[in-house]
Amino acid sequence: MRIYNTLTRRKEEFKPIKEGEAGIYTCGPTVYNYAHIGNMRTFISEDLQVRALRFLGWKVNRVMNITDVGHLVSDADTGEDKMEQGARREGKSAWDIARFYTDEFFKDFKALNCADPDVTCRATDYIKEMIDLGLTLEKKGYTYVIPGDGVYFDTARFPDYGKLAGKSHIEGIQEGARIEANEGKRNPTDFAVWKFSAPGEKRQMEWDSPWGKGFPGWHMECSAMAMKHLGETIDMHWGGEDHVAIHHTNEIAQSEAATGKPFANYWLHARFLVTGDMGKMSKSSGEFLTTGLLVKKGYDPLAYRYYCLQTHYRKQLEFTWEGLDAASKGLERLREASRRLAGAPAGGKPAGKYLSDFKAALEDDLNIPQALACAWEAARDEALPAGERLAFLKEADKVLGLDLFAAPKAEADLEPELMALVEARAAARKAKDFKRSDELRAELAARGVLVEDGPGGQKWRRKPS
Ligand code: AMP
Ligand code: ZN
Repeated sequence: MRIYNTLTRRKEEFKPIKEGEAGIYTCGPTVYNYAHIGNMRTFISEDLQVRALRFLGWKVNRVMNITDVGHLVSDADTGEDKMEQGARREGKSAWDIARFYTDEFFKDFKALNCADPDVTCRATDYIKEMIDLGLTLEKKGYTYVIPGDGVYFDTARFPDYGKLAGKSHIEGIQEGARIEANEGKRNPTDFAVWKFSAPGEKRQMEWDSPWGKGFPGWHMECSAMAMKHLGETIDMHWGGEDHVAIHHTNEIAQSEAATGKPFANYWLHARFLVTGDMGKMSKSSGEFLTTGLLVKKGYDPLAYRYYCLQTHYRKQLEFTWEGLDAASKGLERLREASRRLAGAPAGGKPAGKYLSDFKAALEDDLNIPQALACAWEAARDEALPAGERLAFLKEADKVLGLDLFAAPKAEADLEPELMALVEARAAARKAKDFKRSDELRAELAARGVLVEDGPGGQKWRRKPS
């Protein structure tokens, strides 16, 4: 498989550390609020990568963290902890907030057919590992203390700082100038390894450490958990594009300073989901769309997955309601076509041409739009035996995750577009336009809906699949 590596800024052949295996670390959600559909775009991209690798025969070990402490409101490591902010907003404890939004996150994750990670780990369960990492950095001379504030990593001491974002060391350090100043820091890019609880203030989440009571700096959790579960060097590390300049840059600095080894061989980043009126979708702005809201509005969550599948993960994706309507229709049509094949004799081999094109698309930096196009072509290719097309679509769905063979929705839920055709036929019959009513009957039959005329008028039902 060839993948685009943010670190080298080119597509490279994926070479694993261990033959046939891929260890993948994906930065998880910060659980102080619902995840928005922008976050879910990144999680869907990661899911597609994991499924594609498995489909191509790799053994995958995916680790995902849950950020339930230490992610501060400001990138300068100042301001309130997002968890405590959530707790204040809702009048609950930070621990309750974390539990509630973790559960809500996984509901969305499952509804979007994202496969469970092999390991899911909460930051608050790895405080000891983070303290140990901090002690190693301290012993090696990378840290300094700002009294009354915390223990900081001195980015000027790490010669490769900024390499992920494509910056020289000095540029990388200066880049931080745009981060809000924190008086005591030696360099604007320096970041917290451990933050002290403010004197006289009782935090809901705090722990003892060799430096004093407090909590870990946000970036620490990913280094500590990735290394614990996947080793000091991991194959792939994923996240959204916002993580390149700060979070992942800092993960690299502290991990490589501690071990002297590369932290991750391949860095992958999904571009953002944006909306015309809201711009970048962000949790902190408080204005965002959730998977739950789409469901409330009557959309199948997999219509949103289909929406994401149509655009390559390295292209920005603009969200519009018209686009989501089109994706709903696209998904329903592909399902109709798949269901029509479902009656074909079993045991057919997946159509070879489509299977090889599909694999080639996956191997080309996860070209899912192309893979989806293969599924469409196979569904429509009447020249091939139905059994072969059916077998191929079943294989393709292992990666696409669209539930192509899901039982049709209850009859009462006939898709609006099909319902309009049913109504149009009834009207044509009433007007005695039999030519038109026959045409509409044929069109409905081709799309899996049978209409019959009886004494009580026209009745419709789904073609059995
Ligand atoms: P967070 O819950 O903020 O820690 O983010 C969870 C994941 O979503 C991270 O990988 C982020 O980089 C990613 N992310 C945040 N906002 C967006 C967005 N608008 N579009 C795509 N991914 C995003
Ligand atoms: Zn992370």
